Amino acid sequence: MLKFGGSSLKTGECMRQVAEIIIAEKEKKAVVLSAVTGVTEMLIQFISRTRSEEDVDAFIKDITRLHTDLIKDALRTEKGQAKAMEELVAKLVKLERMLYGSCYIEEVNPRIRDYVQCFGERLSVIMLAALLNEMGAKARPVDADELGIITDGLYGTATVNMEATRSNIRPKMMKMLQDEVTPVITGFFGRAPEGSVTVFGRNGSDYSAAAVANAMGASSLEIWKDVDGFMSVDPKIVPSARPIPRLSYDEAAELAYFGAKVVHPMTMEPARSGNIEIRVKNVFRPEAPGTAIGGTGNVDKSIKSISCMKNLSLVKVFGEGTGYKLGVLADVASILRKAEINIYSVVTSLTCIALLVDKKDVAKAQKVLAESGATRVETHTNFALMCIVGEGLGHHKGLASRVFKAVAKEGVNVGLISAGASLVAYHFTVDEGDLEKATKAVHEELFGC
Ligand code: ASP
Ligand code: MG
Repeated sequence: MLKFGGSSLKTGECMRQVAEIIIAEKEKKAVVLSAVTGVTEMLIQFISRTRSEEDVDAFIKDITRLHTDLIKDALRTEKGQAKAMEELVAKLVKLERMLYGSCYIEEVNPRIRDYVQCFGERLSVIMLAALLNEMGAKARPVDADELGIITDGLYGTATVNMEATRSNIRPKMMKMLQDEVTPVITGFFGRAPEGSVTVFGRNGSDYSAAAVANAMGASSLEIWKDVDGFMSVDPKIVPSARPIPRLSYDEAAELAYFGAKVVHPMTMEPARSGNIEIRVKNVFRPEAPGTAIGGTGNVDKSIKSISCMKNLSLVKVFGEGTGYKLGVLADVASILRKAEINIYSVVTSLTCIALLVDKKDVAKAQKVLAESGATRVETHTNFALMCIVGEGLGHHKGLASRVFKAVAKEGVNVGLISAGASLVAYHFTVDEGDLEKATKAVHEELFGC
């Protein structure tokens, strides 16, 4: 299984490089693809409110031009270009109709939003499959909903129903592989049991690829990006960041969840249950070893990385006897769940529950919690979270004191601390403005550079 991200499709030359990597792989293979960089963003932006017919016309024109230019840039033969254009236009007609529909009923709802968002992938697979065919390989563009990737039906953040997906996609995939056809499958979405399109959340194509790999019983999954894999820290903050050769599934999942945007955090689940080794590689530096995740290789018990996450806010819910009343935490969590607010971390005391949420959700969180009868709800914005990740973290004696001393030496105040929930990660918050110096200090302390 191979998966390619959107930045590896952004010019004709990049696309040809991707095609060469695919062709060089001699084993039977399937490909999962993201949308071209920026296209999902365009779609999400456009569908964020109701639009006029003129808006729709202009938008379809833009998105058509972007893909037409790429087809002309990537494909060399007129015949190949014409065929790809024909398939592209057929897809764009569907998108256009849906956008007109939304415009006439003057409504945007989750179902329409998910349906529209996934078009970037429906278009990118057409282009890459056409290019592979032109370069002499047999490839076919495949839409995930038609193939039969089944989800739990949750708009915006769906997960895959592995059982249903496996029985749907296996026979069709086997047939293509037997015929020596390489399926080029849309990442990012599947279909709910009742048929509507549901997406897996931003960067969800990695997760799609792991789910398909699991369904097919694959032993490895290559995820091709525009970076060398996971690093000991964000190289934009610490230029001496080191590449990480190997991570366990848990380490990679924690890093991905807490800010290292290398792969989608859910990717590790189907990989783990199928015992699939993931290899994160760089399209633009294929000779670099990248990062291996999971599989049978031994994972050492060292500290692997520091990840950072910005744009967080603290919500403090006060109420009498919060600590000993039964079910208060469950109530708070269910109120936030109903409001579709994700909780990144939670710490409780006798009088207060402190929760870490996305900054964009904080006003909504305050409102719904205040309405539900809390004595007082306080919010504090502009927090950043630092997460230290490594197997056996709990066994590194004195690590916490080293980390906090390094942070204190920089005069940085530490807010909420959470340790012990995961054996491979602990995290704490700092003011967003202090994130850079705190990160540098901790990296220097733990990695000596
Ligand atoms: N195209 C989607 C996004 O930009 C999914 C992905 O790239 O994995 O989020
Ligand atoms: Mg992407």
